[in-house]
Amino acid sequence: MSRQNEENRKKHSKKINEKRLREQRSESDRKAKLKLILQNLIPIRMSPNCYCGNPIPFSDCCEPYIKGIKAAPTAEALMRSRYSAYAVHAIEYLLKTTHISQRKYHSKKDIEQWATTNQWVKLEVLKATEKTVEFKAYFLDAQLQPQVHHEKSTFKQQNGHWFYVDGKFY
Ligand SMILES: [Zn+2]
Repeated sequence: MSRQNEENRKKHSKKINEKRLREQRSESDRKAKLKLILQNLIPIRMSPNCYCGNPIPFSDCCEPYIKGIKAAPTAEALMRSRYSAYAVHAIEYLLKTTHISQRKYHSKKDIEQWATTNQWVKLEVLKATEKTVEFKAYFLDAQLQPQVHHEKSTFKQQNGHWFYVDGKFY
């Protein structure tokens, strides 16, 4: 009798295990299918361009600089990342990448206000040299009027990091 019971118990647990395995398999099938669907949807739903206009995603372009994972290798890359920082309201980054000698002229509050009251539409880099970048930043102001900020910025490299020094405005 007890042996019978034991066998029944074994059979029963084998059945449960098989059922669990089938469920696990169908769950991983479902996940694989979902992954495929998402992979196909993402390129349609998300623009491949970075905020700065480069034809690569933000996560591969300006974001690593803004997050401090990488240092912008050129004045232009820094300028582009600063434009993206305005777009995503990364105020700390804008302060941090302003040259130390100039920080006293920029208040965090003013930068934040300038970044958040405007909607950043597009960046156009007109000319870049080793230490200067001339650009046009297109934005909508608080009244949703289209505006253009035309500037030639000067940058300085120090300890492997580029910094914004100042700009000539047009
Ligand atoms: Zn970018």
